[in-house]
Amino acid sequence: MPTCLQRPESVCTPDPGTLMGQPRIKGGYTLQDIQYSAPQSVEEAVSLLAAAGSQGRVLAGGTDLLVQLKNGARGIRHIIDIKRVAGMETLQHTADGGMRIGAAVSCARIGEDPVVQSNYPGLREAAMLIGSDQIQNRATLAGNLCNSSPAADTVPALAALNTSCEIQGPEGSRIMALADFARGPGQNQLGEGEILIALEVPGRTGHFADAYQRFIPRNEMDIAVVGVGVALALNSAGECTQARLALGAVGPRVIEATEAATHLLGSTLDEETLEQAAEMARAIAQPISDKRGPAEYRRSLVGTLTRRVVRTAAERARNHEGS
Ligand SMILES: Cc1cc2nc3c(=O)[nH]c(=O)nc-3n(C[C@H](O)[C@H](O)[C@H](O)COP(=O)(O)OP(=O)(O)OC[C@H]3O[C@@H](n4cnc5c(N)ncnc54)[C@H](O)[C@@H]3O)c2cc1C
Repeated sequence: MPTCLQRPESVCTPDPGTLMGQPRIKGGYTLQDIQYSAPQSVEEAVSLLAAAGSQGRVLAGGTDLLVQLKNGARGIRHIIDIKRVAGMETLQHTADGGMRIGAAVSCARIGEDPVVQSNYPGLREAAMLIGSDQIQNRATLAGNLCNSSPAADTVPALAALNTSCEIQGPEGSRIMALADFARGPGQNQLGEGEILIALEVPGRTGHFADAYQRFIPRNEMDIAVVGVGVALALNSAGECTQARLALGAVGPRVIEATEAATHLLGSTLDEETLEQAAEMARAIAQPISDKRGPAEYRRSLVGTLTRRVVRTAAERARNHEGS
């Protein structure tokens, strides 16, 4: 049987402006109106979520969900916490240098893992940009993806690594490319009762490296105006043999800059090739103008960041022989 707690301390932390420990959510109800469950198996979690229907939400780190609840997100009446589900907090390295990242693995855990530090510095860069230490201790990569913000920092980094999503729901399990997961702002491919179980990063060979950079107007604690992730491999002659580029915050969801990445193949990543690839990345971006910057500014940043991340990843790849 699932563990059901109506008022867990972790969820119902009183804050200033609340009524005697009953945090009031904009919209008239309190956190105490919300049922909280902490299942211990994937099957229990799926069945609870399916039973809750449109009123159910998965809770991973809660760094997006609890903010949304406090801001009046409507219709949520049952939260299913996946942190106690067996295997969700497991970060597993495979023999070919790949990884299986459980949906409840925190960004802090990604940041401190020695294999990630050595083999996936770009993914680490993205995870370490999320909020502050406190946020990173709770926030997950899976939550960053499922929240489906176009500006999510870890999504371009994971897309560049050709990551897949393992999803489980009432009808069984399925695998989908991470780049196809989001449909638009706040919307993704998960059906009712479906949970993202894990992210699978494929293995790596030879001189392989990744990099992620974003532009924000402030030094930290801000949302990406543009983010670019790349993963590439070089042969012993220094020629690019594999490349993937992904753009964040310049479209309704992450954009794979396939033409730009293909243009890098066979080159030694000289400045002329980088400039041509940057132009292709600029051309495929679909930025909007908003208070964070006009579209043309964002488009120009796509070019700048593309050149920078490719240079960084190339430098890393030259100095690093993977497994
Ligand atoms: C102060 C602050 C700073 C931040 N800075 C950044 C930043 O710089 N860059 C950035 O990208 N983000 C930032 N964020 C946003 C947030 O921290 C990230 O999006 C985080 O990765 C979300 O992960 P989580 O585990 O907390 O998700 P949660 O809040 O638990 O969940 C987010 C959403 O995804 C759903 N969900 C979560 N996990 C699953 C799953 N396994 N299956 C199905 N649905 C699921 C939830 O139901 C919810 O709708 C910031 C947030 C705060 C509060």
